[in-house]
Amino acid sequence: MHLTRRQFLAASTAIACAQCGHSLAQTTATPAPVAPVAPAAEPIIDIHQHTEYHGRTDEALLAHQRAMGVTMSILLPAGRPVDRPSTHNGKSNGLAAKCGGNDTVVAFAKKHPGEFVFGANEVSDLPEARTEIEKYLKLGAKIIAEQKFGVECDSTYIQEIARLAQDYDVPILMHFQHATYNLGFERFHKMLEKFPKVNFIGHAQAWWGNIDKNHDPKQNYPLGKVTPGGLTDRYLTDYPNMFGDLSAGSGLNALNRDEEHTRAFLERHQNKLLYGSDCADALGRGPGCSGGRTMAVVRRLAANKAIERKLLYENSKRLFKLG
Ligand SMILES: [Zn+2]
Ligand SMILES: [Zn+2]
Repeated sequence: MHLTRRQFLAASTAIACAQCGHSLAQTTATPAPVAPVAPAAEPIIDIHQHTEYHGRTDEALLAHQRAMGVTMSILLPAGRPVDRPSTHNGKSNGLAAKCGGNDTVVAFAKKHPGEFVFGANEVSDLPEARTEIEKYLKLGAKIIAEQKFGVECDSTYIQEIARLAQDYDVPILMHFQHATYNLGFERFHKMLEKFPKVNFIGHAQAWWGNIDKNHDPKQNYPLGKVTPGGLTDRYLTDYPNMFGDLSAGSGLNALNRDEEHTRAFLERHQNKLLYGSDCADALGRGPGCSGGRTMAVVRRLAANKAIERKLLYENSKRLFKLG
């Protein structure tokens, strides 16, 4: 179609107005401006973020990660929404935090290549779990996660998922929470022994509570001095295929509760711990951003720069074969 100059001007004005209205609408809905991507002197990998997290927009997620200084993020999808005991009859759908599913993380990562990659997930005990997860592994998923469902951590369902992880050579991230998700943490060594080639990443309340040998399983956010030698400490020491995700309020609480213990713990497991944020705020800084606070604690308590870089970048780069 050939446009006259007049038609062309009219058309371009319409486009400009549409863009103006569009960007105006986005600006009012966006809490933080999206900073431009600058080449990072110190790249940082965040292994734990979510789309649609408590209703956060894609634009706010992007702004959040850039505000934290993260250069590569791994987006962990929810399983499909279903009403069954493993999702606590639907209460744990969307990872109990309104998180987006497989298609949302693929779409986001495709929009931001080189800055975001994605995981694959499904409700552990669904008959179609294997097929659904495999579909996204074939699309390039880097991890099976976040496994956060009400099943035994060594059940046939998790074993089936571990076989898939082995076939595709990707890690599995497990949310351990007493009497709620991935039950039976004290038996998890059986999985580590049965699947020595699969790398498991521990996360959440029961994972972090069990750094303490004297952990009371009913305490989700224990405080005070830590006695080394808890289950988590032992799994990390005894099994080369066990890794730890520093993310979320549970990770931050564990790092803050006993700084003397933390310094030694970070040194002891310097090749096994991975930085993650898992926070749903829009700012990416300040007291409401646990991810930013965890990063600050790592920088303050890591015994030296080399350990800090391992935790914030090198370990994940190696484990996920990134960059
Ligand atoms: Zn999460
Ligand atoms: Zn945050």
